[in-house]
Amino acid sequence: MQYNIKQKVMLNIILFGPPGSGKGTQSENLIEKYGLNHISTGDILRAEIKNETELGKEAKGYIDAGKLVPDETVINMLAKKVDEGLGNNAKGFIFDGFPRTIPQAEALDDMMETKNLEIDCLLALEVGKEELVKRILNRGKTSGRSDDTDEGIIQQRVEEYENKTAPIADYYGKQGKLKTIKGEGSIEDTFDLLCDAIKQGVSSN
Ligand code: AMP
Repeated sequence: MQYNIKQKVMLNIILFGPPGSGKGTQSENLIEKYGLNHISTGDILRAEIKNETELGKEAKGYIDAGKLVPDETVINMLAKKVDEGLGNNAKGFIFDGFPRTIPQAEALDDMMETKNLEIDCLLALEVGKEELVKRILNRGKTSGRSDDTDEGIIQQRVEEYENKTAPIADYYGKQGKLKTIKGEGSIEDTFDLLCDAIKQGVSSN
């Protein structure tokens, strides 16, 4: 945990893991407990698509194909949301679904540094591949998400995660900020593990 110029204590967490690992569900619980601003790049992109903005039109093709949206687009989008959150008297941030590539992680670290802030820890939810696909297909029955219903697209999303996103765990591991959490238990058990990891992450900084 660190102090910004105004001596405000902030907690900045990255909730990390493959699609279907429970990031969205656990974010909701963490926001409530810690009073954090939630920044989910997936949610922001879906809202842009719904509002038929230029950004939404650009993102839709990538999302529907199970591919990542280009770095520059999401990085610019994120910077705007962080500024809005700081204006909101944020107690901190929970980044959900960002960063998803090494260049995004580097951009996030740089951006935080310019604001005299820092990522406290990256909480990595671990869930096996079969369980992920099962969970996403199940979510697809009610989520209305076009990328949650087709098994081929889900596989593509998992592949993008393995190729481009998984290396981020190591990137933060080298900074001593990686906490891995078993994500196959109940929502409550996983939440308890996350809270324990946050306590450790904050006290070790
Ligand atoms: P999510 O809701 O986090 O599973 O994201 C859904 C989709 O939005 C992903 O499959 C990507 O196409 C896109 N997306 C969300 N966040 C990012 C990001 N940080 N970088 C690139 N694409 C993203």
